[in-house]
Amino acid sequence: MKPFTYVRAADTAAAIAAASGAGASFLAGGTTLIDLMRLEVMTPNAVIDLGRLALTEIERHGDGVRIGAMAKNSDVVSHPLIAERYPLLAQAVLAGASQQVRNMASVGGNLLQRTRCPYFRDLGVPCNKRAPGSGCSALEGYTRSHAILGTSESCIATHPSDMCVALAALDAVVHTQRGGHTRQIRFADFHTLPGEHPEVENTLEQGELVTHVELPASPFARHAHYVKVRDRAAFAFALASAAVGLDVADGRIRGARIALGGVATRPWRAPEAEQALIGQPPNRQSFERAAAAALVDPKPRRDNAFKVALARRTIVRALELAWGQS
Ligand SMILES: Cc1cc2nc3c(=O)[nH]c(=O)nc-3n(C[C@H](O)[C@H](O)[C@H](O)COP(=O)(O)OP(=O)(O)OC[C@H]3O[C@@H](n4cnc5c(N)ncnc54)[C@H](O)[C@@H]3O)c2cc1C
Ligand code: SF4
Repeated sequence: MKPFTYVRAADTAAAIAAASGAGASFLAGGTTLIDLMRLEVMTPNAVIDLGRLALTEIERHGDGVRIGAMAKNSDVVSHPLIAERYPLLAQAVLAGASQQVRNMASVGGNLLQRTRCPYFRDLGVPCNKRAPGSGCSALEGYTRSHAILGTSESCIATHPSDMCVALAALDAVVHTQRGGHTRQIRFADFHTLPGEHPEVENTLEQGELVTHVELPASPFARHAHYVKVRDRAAFAFALASAAVGLDVADGRIRGARIALGGVATRPWRAPEAEQALIGQPPNRQSFERAAAAALVDPKPRRDNAFKVALARRTIVRALELAWGQS
């Protein structure tokens, strides 16, 4: 591990001030950061420990719910407000990692976890995300786990988070603070596409602290489901996942949410699929039509072409489970 300065911040203001310099990094649960520092993939010159910050609450906020950035993933899963109003989020978080990791991992850290592309973690090979301009080893490499949506010629790595797929479906808002300023970032605007700069993964500025995630009121609690397809039941990232919600009245779908994981370079909303469901009866035929509309212009490669069909089947399965068929 490269040497760094360690700062245990007393409060939010102190954390933001300490992280304002180039190369400083916040530390929450450490399940991503420490891992990558050991590999020397991430080499911050200063690590600002957020462990003392009072950002752990999960509480009602207007018609919705507000989750502190330092709330543990396991606390999100077990909180009654989340179980009652946002079961989709609880299911998605529960599908990630293991109980031990979820006990450590924070909500803020989960938003900002890094890709599991194996070349990103291997200092011996080029990777534009780790070393901008060095090239992308995945383009001619083994691509089974890589993205088919949102890719560029610079990077085809998937966004690994399960939680973020549910947050995308639920139209979450990320609250941040930097200096004396606060911002609210729509979830759709939080993560960026790789384009020519895959090293940039979100719209945060240096030293900008995620303080909360806000969930607006949702009509999707009754009919919602997260399905994750992976190689084994624990410690495996999604090959494809879908977070879906249905709002049904008088036998017709009046609102729908569909977001995908494991197939795209950022948490991926599928508005075309959502639109295809509006006004339809909730049945296998309408779910299949929506799934067919979901993947617009996918870019499969040699080893991950199976993800096109897998993602569509995952959407259909999630919609069936959300509607209560099995
Ligand atoms: C073995 C293993 C298996 C896993 N499997 C899964 C899985 O199946 N699905 C899944 O979704 N995830 C999985 N994960 C990833 C895990 O969910 C993340 O590592 C975790 O959520 C990161 O949270 P953290 O608090 O530990 O973040 P840290 O490691 O502390 O930080 C991660 C990044 O976030 C930044 N950061 C943290 N908090 C803030 C904040 N408040 N404001 C601004 N920046 C911040 C840090 O600077 C750092 O860059 C797995 C991890 C491990 C180790
Ligand atoms: S896909 Fe992205 S993360 Fe993976 S090697 Fe290419 S540039 Fe690096």
